Amino acid sequence: MILVTGGAGYVGSHLVMALLEKNIDVIVFDSLELGHIETIETLKQYGNLKFIKGNLKNIDDIRGVFMSNKGIEAVVHFAAYSQVAESVKNPQKYYYNNVYGTLNLLNAMLEFDVKKIVFSSTAATYGEPVYTPIDEKHPQNPINPYGMTKLMIERIMDDYDKAYGLKSVRLRYFNVAGADSKARIGEWHEPETHLIPNVLKATSDKSFKMFGTDYDTADGTCVRDYINVEDLAKAHILALDYLNNGGETNYFNLGTKTGNSVKEVFAVCEEVKNSKIPLEIYPRREGDPATLVADNSKAKSMLNWKPVHNLEYSVKTAYEWENAFKNKIAK
Ligand code: UDP
Repeated sequence: MILVTGGAGYVGSHLVMALLEKNIDVIVFDSLELGHIETIETLKQYGNLKFIKGNLKNIDDIRGVFMSNKGIEAVVHFAAYSQVAESVKNPQKYYYNNVYGTLNLLNAMLEFDVKKIVFSSTAATYGEPVYTPIDEKHPQNPINPYGMTKLMIERIMDDYDKAYGLKSVRLRYFNVAGADSKARIGEWHEPETHLIPNVLKATSDKSFKMFGTDYDTADGTCVRDYINVEDLAKAHILALDYLNNGGETNYFNLGTKTGNSVKEVFAVCEEVKNSKIPLEIYPRREGDPATLVADNSKAKSMLNWKPVHNLEYSVKTAYEWENAFKNKIAK
């Protein structure tokens, strides 16, 4: 049985779906502050899923999960705040929730002798790239509190391994994109800040805002590495296998090693929608590095992971989810 914190959220729910489809029993622990109960209800149709509402900031909430569920073999930890801009305005909220919440989780794991964790980390731990593509040896100098919370947790995990033998795999995501291949679940953030859903949602009343066309890149817009959410979920399952096979504490980049500019993504969205999308050029968004592309060779060789879906596929599934979601809400 696997415990997934934040399993009602975007990436977490796709991992839960993948686990259920492999007939693995899952407990989701989620505060539902950002995750959605509708996602849990959908997931429940596909396997043995137990949902427990609770908050990692309350140690007793998470202790209770381990106390009443003895068969938890490992934890996959997604629950966190993840908005960069918000973290700059309100670092207190981020350090308290992400770092303190994770400490409670780790301490409860130790208390109940659960010693394996896969953690959602981020390319934001690297900060401004010194070279590209970014491999795992790249210095980690986050430029915002969000990235810093994730780096602090990575460091805490190193110390918890040395002192207590708690094994962790930290997966450093680049830009997650797309939705479930059958449009059952998908990205659902309120408010939405991410590129692909924002382009797909644009209407003549509310055009898409392109942030910055004067970057030092081929077409002047930011370049990112868009990794499909189902490929990403697969990597978590391989990371669990790695730990189950006695793998040591480790960390891996998850990306495709391919960069796409905002203009390229916009063009793919127009192609998938088969229509012109209203666009307005805006100044740069604060804190956006020009280029972020992953060197993914370590995950490929050590986890035997291989991303299979391209950007077109991610945009297509995101669009299908967007339509399915609108129908669901309209009902
Ligand atoms: N972006 C944009 N308009 C939007 C959202 C994003 O132009 O409404 C740009 C953003 O400036 C960045 C890229 O798209 O260059 C990817 O942004 P996103 O927020 O999706 O991911 P991030 O790279 O911040 O993790």
